[in-house]
Amino acid sequence: MHETPIDLRSDTVTQPTPAMRAAMLAAPLGDDVFGADPTVNALQERIAALLGFEAALFVPTGTQSNLCGILAHCGRGDEYIVGQQQHCYRWEGGGAAVFGSVQPQPLDHAPDGTLPLAQIEAAIKPDDAHFARTRLLALENTLGGKVLPMDYLRDATALARRHGLATHLDGARLFNAAVASGGADPYTRAREIASHFDSVSVCFSKGLGAPVGSALVGSREFIARAHRIRKMAGGGMRQAGLLAAAALHALDHHVERLAEDHALASRLAEGLAAIPGLRVEAPQSNIVFVDLEGDAAARGTGLIEHLKTQGVLATGLYRLRFVTHLDVDAAGVDRAVAAVRAFFAQP
Ligand SMILES: *Cc1c(COP(=O)(O)O)cnc(C)c1O
Repeated sequence: MHETPIDLRSDTVTQPTPAMRAAMLAAPLGDDVFGADPTVNALQERIAALLGFEAALFVPTGTQSNLCGILAHCGRGDEYIVGQQQHCYRWEGGGAAVFGSVQPQPLDHAPDGTLPLAQIEAAIKPDDAHFARTRLLALENTLGGKVLPMDYLRDATALARRHGLATHLDGARLFNAAVASGGADPYTRAREIASHFDSVSVCFSKGLGAPVGSALVGSREFIARAHRIRKMAGGGMRQAGLLAAAALHALDHHVERLAEDHALASRLAEGLAAIPGLRVEAPQSNIVFVDLEGDAAARGTGLIEHLKTQGVLATGLYRLRFVTHLDVDAAGVDRAVAAVRAFFAQP
C-alpha cells in the first residue's frame, strides 16, 4: 500500500495551508455586495496596485473573470481575437458568445505559444457591414505553461492599439510567468507583463494555492462595467473576505515559492524523458506535457488508470499532463516517474 496519492492533475488541487486557514479565520468580514467587506476591499486595492491598475474586482473563478473582462470590452456583435488553445476560447463553454453575443476569432498558435503578428493583423476586420466589429485582442500567459516573451507582448499589444483594439491578458498563471522569466523580483516582473494590457485576469486558486478566487484588474471605469456584469453573472458574493484573505495570504507567501514548482517540473521532465517512447516537452514553468511515440503510444492506453492504482494522479485529456504545485515534493515527483517507468517496463 502507498501513502497519500501524489496529485499532478492540476495546480488547482492544493489544500489551503494551516497559515492560510488561520488568515481566513482572522479576516474582518462584511457584505461585499454593499462594498462593505474590508478584506475584499483590501485585496482589490492590493492586486490593482501590485499590477499597476486603478481598480480590481474579486470574482469566484477565472472563467467569470475572463467573461466579465470580455463583456466589459465588447458588446453584442463585436469580436475578440484569441488563440485556439486559450482558456477563454476553448475551455470556458463559449461563455462570451453565449452570454454576450461576442464572436471569437480564434487563431492558431506558433510553437512558442504566441499568436503571429501577421495573423493578428490579417484577422482584424475593416469597418464593413459584412463583418463583426473587431474590438479586443486576448492573450494568455503562461499558455499551457509556456512563457510569452516580453518583446512579443509589447509588439502584439502595440499592434492591437494601432488598430483601435483593447487588450486583455488571461493571466491565470501570471505569477508563474513572472517567476519563470527571472530578472527582477516576481512582483515587479508581473507588473511589467501586465503593463502592456488594458485588463488582466489572475487566479489565486492555481499555483498560488488559495481555495477559491480570481481578480480582474483595469481602469476604474472598466471595472465599474465589469462589476455590473459580475452581478448579472451571479458573482456578487457576500462575506467573501473569508476567501479574499486566502488570496492576500497567497500574494504574501506563495509567489516566490513558485520557483520550487518550476524546479520540480524540470525534475519530473528529466525523469520522464529517460523513459523510452516518451517525448517530453521541456517545461518553462510548472506544467509538463508528454507525448507517447511508437510502441509506447500503442501501449499507453491505460497508463492514467494504472498510475491511479499506484497513487499517482495525472490527466490525459488531449496529451499526458503533469502539473506541479504547493502540495508536491521531490519524493512525490520521483514516485510518479518510477510509476510511469514501471508501467512501460511491464512485459
Ligand atoms: C484555470 C484557468 C482559467 C479558469 O479558471 P477557473 O477558476 O477554473 O474558472 C482561465 N484561464 C486559464 C489560463 C486557466 O488556466
